Amino acid sequence: MLIPKPMPDEVFKGFLTRICILNRVYSMRQLLIYLSPRKTRPLPFTKNTFSALRILSDKTNLDLMQLVCSHTLIPYIQVFSVTKHEWDFSNPRWLNTLSIVGTRPILSHARYCPECVDEDLGFWGYTYWRRSHQLPGIEWCLKHQTCLITVPKIYFSKLPPSSTELLSPPNKYKYAHHPVIEKYAQISIGLLDSRSSFIMNKIGMRLGDAARKSGFMVSPKGKKKLLSDLALESIPFDWLVNLFPEFATKTPNMYLNYFDSVCQSRRSQMSTKVFALAAALLYPNADEGLYQLTH
Ligand SMILES: [Zn+2]
Repeated sequence: MLIPKPMPDEVFKGFLTRICILNRVYSMRQLLIYLSPRKTRPLPFTKNTFSALRILSDKTNLDLMQLVCSHTLIPYIQVFSVTKHEWDFSNPRWLNTLSIVGTRPILSHARYCPECVDEDLGFWGYTYWRRSHQLPGIEWCLKHQTCLITVPKIYFSKLPPSSTELLSPPNKYKYAHHPVIEKYAQISIGLLDSRSSFIMNKIGMRLGDAARKSGFMVSPKGKKKLLSDLALESIPFDWLVNLFPEFATKTPNMYLNYFDSVCQSRRSQMSTKVFALAAALLYPNADEGLYQLTH
């Protein structure tokens, strides 16, 4: 069986699709059965991406950690956690978390950049799905400033991006250079390089210190401005509500628990996008924001 190397930033599911196409295998499930060393029937793919990662790694020379960290969204999803831990496949706790929540989808659709497709076709002769196009709130390709095209998620498992129908020519994204949105995007993409989890509690307190220093209130009681007020004032409403529907009913000085509580010490899970936007609002540039979230 022909197994190519994954492309830089290639989505794992899309990579499996490329292997299927190259080898004329008609489904990912069939591919995994072919690759499975014991001829056992693998678990349904959509329910257990992790078992697919293991099977592929066992069968090829591709390192499992490399596959996970460079070709899935797990680094983004797992970067903030209740406890700090290095990612380690001998750690049953991490494996358990990975198999339950680590590979859940973030977006309900697949996206690609039409200009990346053109370049890939010209240079490689084929196209592939990129991880950095599948992050919440990043509606454009940071390389080309072009609006991403959205297609049904099933396309990851069926087709390369070049086989999807282009309904419109490439458009430049209107908020690509918005100071907060661009910073948010750079921080989010930076988090894809994570190789360990950081304690939410500690990061929350650090964000709280930065917020207080800038004159914001971090608890529900008081009359000062909240971080959610700054978000509402400084970010275009359509982008904000698209990413955080909770802002639709937000009014000035109204404590928005879902968002404002990121500045407090916390023990329950909170989505990575909240940390990324809080850092984009509080720190002067993406490098500083990323540093404060990951140290
Ligand atoms: Zn592009």
